[in-house]
Amino acid sequence: MRTQVTLYTARYVFPVSAAPIANGAVAAEDGRIVAVGTAADLRERFPGGHVVDLGARALLPGLVNAHTHLELTHHAGHVPEDLPFVEWTYPLVRYSRTRSPEDFERAAYAGVELLRASGTVAVGEICTFGRSVRPLVASGLYGTIYYELLSPDPARAAELLREGQQQIERWRSEYPQSRIRFGLSPHTPFTVSAELLRAVAEWCSAEDVPLTIHAAESPAESQFLRDATGPIADLMYAGAGWPLHPERAPGISPMAYLDELGVLASRPLLAHGIQVDADDVARIARADAAVAHCPRSNTRLRCGRMPYALYRAAGVRLALGSDSLASSPSLAVWDDAVDAHALHAQVGETPTSTDLLRLATLGGADALGLSDQLGTLEPGKRAALACVSLAALSAAEQNDAESVLAALADGRLAPEALPATSS
Ligand SMILES: [Zn+2]
Repeated sequence: MRTQVTLYTARYVFPVSAAPIANGAVAAEDGRIVAVGTAADLRERFPGGHVVDLGARALLPGLVNAHTHLELTHHAGHVPEDLPFVEWTYPLVRYSRTRSPEDFERAAYAGVELLRASGTVAVGEICTFGRSVRPLVASGLYGTIYYELLSPDPARAAELLREGQQQIERWRSEYPQSRIRFGLSPHTPFTVSAELLRAVAEWCSAEDVPLTIHAAESPAESQFLRDATGPIADLMYAGAGWPLHPERAPGISPMAYLDELGVLASRPLLAHGIQVDADDVARIARADAAVAHCPRSNTRLRCGRMPYALYRAAGVRLALGSDSLASSPSLAVWDDAVDAHALHAQVGETPTSTDLLRLATLGGADALGLSDQLGTLEPGKRAALACVSLAALSAAEQNDAESVLAALADGRLAPEALPATSS
């Protein structure tokens, strides 16, 4: 028996895969898109359809936040906002030690609500304490949860890989029908041994398990890999009592190091990717790895500006991520799109509004391996929609797709979840 078709009609539809449609509509049935077109055409095609008129709004594919740590949502306000990367890790860890497992789970539930409210439908989540899984599975959001592995001790590599494999097995059997996939996240090139990086990459490649890693984020990371000096050696390693093995400094860039260890060959999702040169970006492009651009976190932690034009010219798959509320003011990934727009404009590399919309939707879906289901409004894909109220625009602007896109890019408009009455 056919279920009823729902027709969402709106002042504009931005399919991302096609030009904007004025007075457009999306027809959905059983949670999937069955048609996209003008409202007039779709009303004629689906005369019995249940119409949800969104009025002066634009409809978009739901957004994708490719890099989060939802367990840290309640860290907002407990970590100073003016510290560089390495110094920032101290209050972060200190505050985490005061939190219980239940606190992390409550924080993750709160994070899920923030994601939803900002029109997000999928997420790339790093899970450190095991507590963001239940909230995300229950949320109905799509995405990947990456279990985090952290130890620079090569002697622990086999044990940690086993722990990661077992965790994934447990989650898969606990949540077999979930919209969430499970993967691994070796923390960074400087907090994980070469042995563990190599072993995780090999296993993830062989088993087709998603892998993400923070990489080429801070200048301190590049310095440490170059010659084992700088704040990571002096503060982090000394503070944690980690021995400085000679192989901690391979003498090459973070991306060259990950390439050498086989991590890039696993087509990882690289978080940040700021401290890179043309050679590094070429390595990423050759490996067909994706990069989650987290501009607001990068600026706050004084990590620098992503060389956006270099990435674009190399054709690297780019997504956007907010990172956690310990280093970012919101989990609304569109705020990162607005920030990226202003940030790259400062050096004449202004992304177009269309580029930004693509990054926040299809780019993220692709980075999470979900572009066959999400990221554009096309028949067959999930009816996972976001919308934007145009009420703040003049009547003339509301009637011009370019003006709507420009207002999105400069932050005058912000995507949100569909109104509750329409679900
Ligand atoms: Zn992160």
